[in-house]
Amino acid sequence: MRVTDDRYAGELAKFDLAIRMIGHEARTGTIRACTGFTEDRIRKIYSTYFKLRPGITVRRKRGKSPTQITGFVSSSRRQSEATLIACLLLYTGAIDLAARGPVKSVGVSSVSLGQRVCDAFEVYRALQPEPQFSFERVWGLYRALAVAKELYFARCGICEGPYVQDAYALDYQRCPFCELKDRPAQV
Ligand SMILES: [Zn+2]
Repeated sequence: MRVTDDRYAGELAKFDLAIRMIGHEARTGTIRACTGFTEDRIRKIYSTYFKLRPGITVRRKRGKSPTQITGFVSSSRRQSEATLIACLLLYTGAIDLAARGPVKSVGVSSVSLGQRVCDAFEVYRALQPEPQFSFERVWGLYRALAVAKELYFARCGICEGPYVQDAYALDYQRCPFCELKDRPAQV
C-alpha cells in the first residue's frame, strides 16, 4: 500500500510540475527532462488543460532551448536581471555555491530541480514588472551556471557585490548595479 501511495504521490508531483511548466511556456524537451514524461503525454496534458480553454493563452514550444549566453550580459539591465535570477536560483536551492565560489549543481531529483527553477522564475516574474527573460531563458541561465559553467558569480570591485559574468569575457569588476547607478540613461 505504502509503495502504491509513494508512486501515486510521485506521479502527482510530476503531473503538477508539467502543468506548471506548460503554463510558463517551457519547451517540451525541458518538461521531458524534468518530469520524464513522453512527448505524447505532454502533448495530451497540453491539449486537455490549456489548448481549448477560453482566456488561457499558452503557446506550446518545440525544439531546442536557446543556449546563447551573451543575452545575459549584453547590457547592464539584462545582466542585473540575470544576477537577480541567479540569486533566486540560489535561494530556491536549484544551484549551490562551492566553498571557493564556483556554482555547482545540487544533487536532487529532476522533478525537485524543476520545481526549484519554477519557484525562482515565479518570484522573478512577480518582482520584475517588465521581465527580460522567459522561462526557457531562466532554464538556460541555470544550465549555463551549473552545467556548462559558461557563467559564474564575479565580485564587484566597487560595492563588493556578486554579479553574473561571462566566464570567457574580460571582467572589469564592475557589477551592473554600479554601472546603472553611474549611467542611469543607458538601461
Ligand atoms: Zn557594484
